[in-house]
Amino acid sequence: MARYTGPSCRICRREGAKLFLKGIRCSSEKCAFSRRSFPSGQHGKARTKLSDYGLQLREKQKVKRTYGVLERQFRRYFFEAERLPGVTGELLLQLLERRLDNVILRTGFAVSLTQARQFVRYGHVKVNGRKVDIPSFIVSAGNSVQIQGKEKLMKLVKENIEATKDRAIPTWLSVDAANCKADMVRLPIRSDVTFAVQEQLIVELYSK
Ligand code: SF4
Repeated sequence: MARYTGPSCRICRREGAKLFLKGIRCSSEKCAFSRRSFPSGQHGKARTKLSDYGLQLREKQKVKRTYGVLERQFRRYFFEAERLPGVTGELLLQLLERRLDNVILRTGFAVSLTQARQFVRYGHVKVNGRKVDIPSFIVSAGNSVQIQGKEKLMKLVKENIEATKDRAIPTWLSVDAANCKADMVRLPIRSDVTFAVQEQLIVELYSK
């Protein structure tokens, strides 16, 4: 499947927000957005005021990129959220939060979404005791996820847990760090999404 392979920091600068795409570096003084919070390129600083459509588009791009999802898949999440009973924008965020790669990131077992996705793809993640190697797998309330692998991998995961210990683990996850295991105790809700997002703008964009 196609994926974005360009510089991650350029995305943060483009979206005007820290999207935490590079793990530990994002919390350090080396963060490119902290040093230059305007889009890259010759005309980056000369950003003009956005139209309503522009605002909606940027919000959608920001969320897509935060969860590392491409357009077609993102659209599918939107239509799935629209089909479900409830508030579409909130359900969209909930589906994205429940992706297996995102759950691994939130537990602190991985320092970045890219690394979390690698753990899944390489078959190191089990859901309810069974190997799942699909990063977009949707984790349900009551499911447990666990990382299992050779000594070298487990050492890396333990180092990640230590490196991310200052990040708050969401309350919808119960993490057993000693066993690199986590349970989803409930579904994530809107208030669990901690980055700034106006999901209503995305709903408006797709409802045109
Ligand atoms: Fe974004 Fe900063 Fe992380 Fe780069 S280091 S991906 S700019 S948050």
